[in-house]
Amino acid sequence: MPRKSPWHSIKSNVHHNNSACNTGNNIEKENLRQGDGGKPLCDECKELNRQGK
Ligand SMILES: [Zn+2]
Repeated sequence: MPRKSPWHSIKSNVHHNNSACNTGNNIEKENLRQGDGGKPLCDECKELNRQGK
């Protein structure tokens, strides 16, 4: 399953850790930062992780 280290967008209130997450993949490069930024995990990632994707 394509887990990777957390990343987030400075324009969003959530972080991502699943490379299958559409929202996570659509972050524009200039807004992309490594780490969770102290934000909660995105719901889409949470669901993907739960499904083991
Ligand atoms: Zn996500």
